[in-house]
Amino acid sequence: MTEIPKSHPRYASLVARERVAQGVKNGITSTQGLIAQGRGECFDYLLGERTTPSAATAIRAAAALLLLAKRPAISVNGNVAALVPVEMVALAAALKIPLEVNLFHRSEERVKKIADLLREKGAGDVLGERPDISVPGLDHARALATRGGIYDADVVLIPLEDGDRCEALLAMGKKVIAIDLNPLSRTARKASVSIVDNILRAVPQLTEEVRQLSLKPNSDLQRMIQEYDNEKILREAAREIQENLKEQFRKLI
Ligand code: ATP
Repeated sequence: MTEIPKSHPRYASLVARERVAQGVKNGITSTQGLIAQGRGECFDYLLGERTTPSAATAIRAAAALLLLAKRPAISVNGNVAALVPVEMVALAAALKIPLEVNLFHRSEERVKKIADLLREKGAGDVLGERPDISVPGLDHARALATRGGIYDADVVLIPLEDGDRCEALLAMGKKVIAIDLNPLSRTARKASVSIVDNILRAVPQLTEEVRQLSLKPNSDLQRMIQEYDNEKILREAAREIQENLKEQFRKLI
């Protein structure tokens, strides 16, 4: 990887870009993943490259939902594997559940490389290499799933996912948690809980919330979920972008 000096003002963003580029070189990320990263970077800029108060609320609700789930599942794609492999392994360990490789541009070779990478980073069980069932309503490769994993889950975490798959999982009656920097994406608008934040910041915070909330009684977590309003969270994310832009433009003009 290209060495990026820590003193660089855009250090975090450049490291992320480098990780995704390396993911493509290593055959774990698709070339389309580079474009998805670019779109994400743009929205991160608009948000002010920080976890906003609304994202922090969504992260807490997501942790509560995952802890209360009977069968939670976590989806990992090529961008997620390139950006946060260690952090995803830590999240799965905190919840004591497997990770499932789930690709939009599926190739068996890429699935294996991602599963190997996750195991190398300490993952126990990794699903997705031997899909045995399809999610209804999606075309063949994108529909592939595993019994005992995402297919049977009641709550699914889908970071950086496309809108079709989000809708197909919701249509199966699942609760869906998205991590997506674009509050206007179909995924963010449809999900049960939309974390509008960079996955680099969101996943470590989500793991920390899972650890802290696991000490609380279920009734507290249930109340948090009842009080959570995803439409309100998306409106707040839009307002946070507006406020940040106003402030930035005020400095400029
Ligand atoms: P949709 O079908 O939901 O409208 P889309 O077509 O905008 O989605 P995709 O390219 O399928 O999006 O998925 C990539 C999504 O992931 C984009 O919305 C992008 O903003 C987001 N994204 C990219 N990089 C990151 C990141 N590092 N952290 C969080 N979100 C990201």
